Amino acid sequence: MKDIKVAYFSAEVGLNEHIKTYSGGLGILAGDTIKAMADLEVPFCAMTLLYKYGFFKQEINDEDRQEELNDPWDYENILTDTGKQATLYIRNTLITLKIWKYEYTGESGHTVPIYFLDTHHKSNPDWAKELTEHLYVGDRIGQELVLGIGGYRALQALELDSIETYHMNEGHSAFLTLEMYRDLGVKTGTYEDAQVEEKCVFTTHTPIPAGHDKFEYSEFYSAIEGEKDLAPWHLKKLAGEDRLNMTKLALSLSRHTNAVSRRHAEVTREMFPGEEVDYVTNGIHSTTWASVHMKALFDNYIPGWRLDSTKLNEIFKVPNSEIFKAHQDAKNELVSHVNEVNVTGAKLNSKVLTIGFARRFIQYKDAELIFSNLDDLRRIGTKVQFIFAGKAHKNDGMGKEIMKRIIDKAKELKDDISIAFIENYNIGVAKKLVSGCDLWLNTPIPPNEASGTSGMKGALNGCSHFSKLDGWSIESYEMNGGGFPISDYSDFITTLEYKIIPMFTSENKTSWIEQMKLSIGNSGSYFNTHRMVKEYLEKAYNLK
Ligand SMILES: *Cc1c(COP(=O)(O)O)cnc(C)c1O
Repeated sequence: MKDIKVAYFSAEVGLNEHIKTYSGGLGILAGDTIKAMADLEVPFCAMTLLYKYGFFKQEINDEDRQEELNDPWDYENILTDTGKQATLYIRNTLITLKIWKYEYTGESGHTVPIYFLDTHHKSNPDWAKELTEHLYVGDRIGQELVLGIGGYRALQALELDSIETYHMNEGHSAFLTLEMYRDLGVKTGTYEDAQVEEKCVFTTHTPIPAGHDKFEYSEFYSAIEGEKDLAPWHLKKLAGEDRLNMTKLALSLSRHTNAVSRRHAEVTREMFPGEEVDYVTNGIHSTTWASVHMKALFDNYIPGWRLDSTKLNEIFKVPNSEIFKAHQDAKNELVSHVNEVNVTGAKLNSKVLTIGFARRFIQYKDAELIFSNLDDLRRIGTKVQFIFAGKAHKNDGMGKEIMKRIIDKAKELKDDISIAFIENYNIGVAKKLVSGCDLWLNTPIPPNEASGTSGMKGALNGCSHFSKLDGWSIESYEMNGGGFPISDYSDFITTLEYKIIPMFTSENKTSWIEQMKLSIGNSGSYFNTHRMVKEYLEKAYNLK
């Protein structure tokens, strides 16, 4: 443990169904990154917050609206208490942090510790205890101080003094640079940006300026009251003149910054002129996301794929019938599950082309594209069926309206086309969907999707991508990674009706299975976290 070299800070981490400290793509990516670091035996640890009540559990009520329930988890049994603690001042109150640990073990037995900071210490006031109860609600600056400042101090309390690189996964943890600036200043007697930059690496995840955390300086200064020397004299130069921009702070004090797809790097450079921004396209952890049926197939034909999923390009030697069967087995399970639990009264048929759409309901993802002309849906309704899932953020009224309209339309069209909605999209639901659907629909309004990862999970399982050209899909189509691009609604419906449906329903299915092979062999072998972690090692970490 003493020789850990990289500490990865993330406001959310999604490792499995039982650890509910994630809301969506960012957290799942963090979990999949951790798993690949363990597989590749990188001396790595992660720091996050222990959200006692998770993000939220979604239920759809009688009016087809989202209800948000607490989603508590059994952290006292799943994690171990390290017995160590760290402290920081927030608003002139000394806050004590408990530090919990989970150890993830990779394919070859190497473990990566993940530390969860917890403010439920008996000496803390109630408002401070709430900081680690719910993900992304409440006192955001307090949470980010706990993660950045508290996380840095927690690593010292744990005596992890060999860390050379601090990797900020999104700007939420950027306050760690301020504590490092102060700490290294005390230790070396000089206060310089360069000694912080030398140790920090930053990955930015959102191409939408509104998605970057910004705080009023007045709010920041009152939040750090009690702390000494935490704000360097040139903070506004580092983090922005008007407001404290967490992305800008992280960019200013990192030796390496990257976006999460090639297109996203272009957009990020436009947003922050003059900054150097590289890219490392996201991936997924293949053994987490392949269905049991695909895993058995890969184990049989592609030895070594679990330790190195870039080997999945060997899928081209596997007989078509076996690939089709492994996928159909997953699809049968999905269809019977969805028929039991969907809230729209849909009755799916496991022989029919099944299109999945599961993601955050937020305007830019344009979930309603397929409803642009209901007559089109009625016409093709016997040949295709849809499954929808996803949550809207608690305070995103627009996202909630989109979700309600989709559920309402699904019910209205029930006699003409099967459109299922299933509640509470999470890791467990995602696994079923990405492995059992035939096509994965992705319709963001470009260039808002930084990368997207659910489509990669589909591709790995032979569920081809049907997507607008944005984020990872641009790169996937360029490398002949299977699936079908979409430009607009008319392109969507024409491609579906005249290209995809005939290919899917043809007697021998040869060209359909060819698509599945391209998805697994070309996309699956590349858009995985084994390839991604190797790129981080080369471009960002410089491990000695
Ligand atoms: C993979 C995943 C996401 C992210 O998917 P996107 O394609 O980036 O929207 C979100 N939520 C869950 C539960 C996932 O498994």
